[in-house]
Amino acid sequence: MTRFSLAVHGGAGTILRHTMTDDLQARYHAGLRRALQAGHDILADGGAAMDAVTAAVCALEEEPLFNAGRGAVFTADGRQEMDAAVMDGATRKAGAVAGILGPRNPILAARAVMERTDHVLLIGPNALTVARDAGLPFEEAPYFFTQQRWDALQATLRMRREGIDDLDPARRHGTVGAVARDARGDLAAATSTGGMTAKAPGRVGDTPVIGAGTYADNATCAVSGTGHGEIFIRWHAAAEIAARMRHAGQSLEEAARHVVMTDLASNDGSGGLIAVDAEGTLTLPFNCEGMYRGTVTQKGDFVTAIYR
Ligand code: ASP
Repeated sequence: MTRFSLAVHGGAGTILRHTMTDDLQARYHAGLRRALQAGHDILADGGAAMDAVTAAVCALEEEPLFNAGRGAVFTADGRQEMDAAVMDGATRKAGAVAGILGPRNPILAARAVMERTDHVLLIGPNALTVARDAGLPFEEAPYFFTQQRWDALQATLRMRREGIDDLDPARRHGTVGAVARDARGDLAAATSTGGMTAKAPGRVGDTPVIGAGTYADNATCAVSGTGHGEIFIRWHAAAEIAARMRHAGQSLEEAARHVVMTDLASNDGSGGLIAVDAEGTLTLPFNCEGMYRGTVTQKGDFVTAIYR
């Protein structure tokens, strides 16, 4: 058994090799590595899984390459609406926000909902009030803007106007997340996203839906998903892994593989997830071309990867 372990992801999808330069690849690896380092330092110091996953996700939210926080994708009407959630495996407390723009780190707004309210999921102005009352830093819209995401929106809208079906939902998604087991044996999960490019205003994906894109329970596992959110919600992807472990006695790896490769893959649910069990075992299955991902354990063996 490992004393602690941590996995992060920066989204799954169609990561086209021919558009990927060596320089860009190096930047992705560096972004993942920074997130792993932030979480690792907390875990190595005896810190809590919840602190580690939120620190790792903050690092990913601040890296504009990833679709969360700075660099989030745009809705069909050209706005950014962010979803985020955390769940604590020891207490099964959870906090989430949906459709927000303002807090520099939406994941900390989700954590504020968990720690400062009696609720699990907040939307609208009061979600921002909770974040403000928690003293979280806010940013104006230009901070979150990236040309690359704006261009992706224009390309998607053009395809729609021309009646070209985007048969590959994987092209439009991305998300960031982290799962950890700390030295005390507690599990936690955190996920943050801008959602899917050209989503309808007000659309909420799987990320802030507890049991769909985010889940943690010390008795089974912690999970953070990335992919076609509607399918993750309908197949209850993250909680289904825990249910398979609890009721069918499956290992984390078997359960996660079944959900990603069978339930999601055969139902238009492109994507992947990262998960950790009570022993600290990590698994990172995905059913599309690539998933930005990384792992580290107490051995200090930092690994980051993009493709299969
Ligand atoms: N699952 C996210 C959503 O549907 C997007 C993604 O992970 O790519 O909002």
